[in-house]
Amino acid sequence: MSKVYTVISGKGGVGKTTIAANLGVSLARMRKKTVVVDADLAMGGVATILGLSEIPVTLHEVLAGKGSIEKAVYSTHGLDVLPSGHTVSGFLRTDPKKLEGVVDKLKRTYDYVIIDSPPGLNKYSLAPLKNADEVLLVVTPDLPAVQTTAKLQSVIATYSANVRGVIVNRFRIPSFFPWLFGVKGSMEKGEIERRLKAKVLGVIPEDRAVIESMNMRSAIVIYRPKSSASKAINAIAKNLTH
Ligand code: ADP
Ligand code: MG
Repeated sequence: MSKVYTVISGKGGVGKTTIAANLGVSLARMRKKTVVVDADLAMGGVATILGLSEIPVTLHEVLAGKGSIEKAVYSTHGLDVLPSGHTVSGFLRTDPKKLEGVVDKLKRTYDYVIIDSPPGLNKYSLAPLKNADEVLLVVTPDLPAVQTTAKLQSVIATYSANVRGVIVNRFRIPSFFPWLFGVKGSMEKGEIERRLKAKVLGVIPEDRAVIESMNMRSAIVIYRPKSSASKAINAIAKNLTH
């Protein structure tokens, strides 16, 4: 049976794309047939961070009724990717309402469909919630990221999607006085769970290896598999298979 996970957050820049792409690679490495759909139609970055450069047909064309899904799916890192296009004109021609039909078709082929989405609360960020079986909330451990994501919670309920849990990204533990964390460092896990009324699925530390891998256009779970961020991402992916 196919499962659709939609990755969302209130704020941008918290790590949704990094997490969606790397969870996809991690699931594919567990021999699960996986596709990552880049539904950030304006600013999509999945193709860039997974090293896909030749993408003549993209989700832009598919959502404009000008390209087939088959032609817009590319293989990389052992998984399939349905990338967003890079142009503003392409973005303006998309109809986000068509995403639902696209995901429905992908569900027939894949074990896991991971949808990356744009931040915020608008027709582009809400379209990926339509066929989500479960939603993964991504936050950084700070109040603005958590508060903006809490706002999404009420909307998610109206889409009859369940929240699978929260992924806390870029968690910083002070190197010299680690017992101070929660006071001087990151917001505590318990506090995040209370504010979002959802369980924390995993905590991904702030890790330079994430940026290094991105600049190498490679998934961190492959480029730096022993890094602390990779270990955290692999553990979350494993959790998602249960
Ligand atoms: P979003 O999709 O939510 O806008 P991105 O995945 O594009 O966020 O990540 C934003 C930036 O944060 C990128 O430059 C990425 O390399 C960096 N980043 C994400 N996660 C981490 C991490 N755990 N450690 C260090 N840098 C990270
Ligand atoms: Mg993104």
